[in-house]
Amino acid sequence: MKYVFGPVLSRRLGISLGLDLIPFKTCTLDCIYCECGRTTKKTTERKPYIKASHILDEVKQVLVKAEKLDYITLGGSGEPTLNSEIGTLINEIKKISDIPVAVLTNGTLLHLKEVRKDLQHADLVIPSLDAVSPEVFKKIDRPAKGLDPGTIIDGLIQFRKEYKGKIWLEVFFVKGVNDSDEAVDGLIKTIRTIRPDKVQLNTIDRPPAEPTAMSEDIEGLRLIYERFRDNDIHAEIIKPFEIKDAPALADQKDVKRSVISLIKRRPETIRHISLFLGLQVPFVNKILRELEQEKKIKRIILKGETFYKA
Ligand code: SF4
Repeated sequence: MKYVFGPVLSRRLGISLGLDLIPFKTCTLDCIYCECGRTTKKTTERKPYIKASHILDEVKQVLVKAEKLDYITLGGSGEPTLNSEIGTLINEIKKISDIPVAVLTNGTLLHLKEVRKDLQHADLVIPSLDAVSPEVFKKIDRPAKGLDPGTIIDGLIQFRKEYKGKIWLEVFFVKGVNDSDEAVDGLIKTIRTIRPDKVQLNTIDRPPAEPTAMSEDIEGLRLIYERFRDNDIHAEIIKPFEIKDAPALADQKDVKRSVISLIKRRPETIRHISLFLGLQVPFVNKILRELEQEKKIKRIILKGETFYKA
């Protein structure tokens, strides 16, 4: 499988089958916190980077044997709305499956009518908005030329008016970058006009693109959450997993492939790999040691924790 990964256990979406719609790190932004590393192709050009029919062929193969999925999630390691065939892909998936379709997007192209139209038949759209001032936006999201927060916010407001599905807006906080009182007030004021179904407050918990980017501490996030709540915004803090019994999701015939497929996109700890794929920790440990010896993966240390990346 080149474009389909998982199923994996997602913090927000349960058991999710991931679809990669664009080549690795092709994005409109180059966020300092990005878990996939630095953007290698920063662009706003929409085109059929990967044909919808190629992705759909893989989806059909996986759906034949997939047991239970909560979502089919369009995202991957870049911005999925850059793929101009995303609308076709969503419509074709809806024809062959009842599983809800979610789209993870940075929202930077929602000012384009054709992008909003492409997403109309998704069940859930999770856009992000990290800053409303151009200075902070540039600092945290390092946008492609021509992108500015005003246009992105207008796109989000317009999308909310036209779209009938659910919108969960994600705000990613980086300590000392977009967490000042002024920055948070600006976000709250703007998000009240966007009116998403809920807001998800997130911060760094895997090695970021820039090692200098620091995660917001839990107390800081809690204070931000309270300010959102006091302004009548339905918000929640994205917490780490606390699931005891993860379902078995790895391809038992080729566990190494399942592990590589998972950590190719972003680094994970042994505990998370075990959780996402429903494998015992000692077994994951053994697989990771073998993959290291085969030089297929590497270790990254963040705050004393070891992450693995293919
Ligand atoms: S976090 Fe998302 S929007 Fe930001 S650079 Fe990474 S893939 Fe692009």
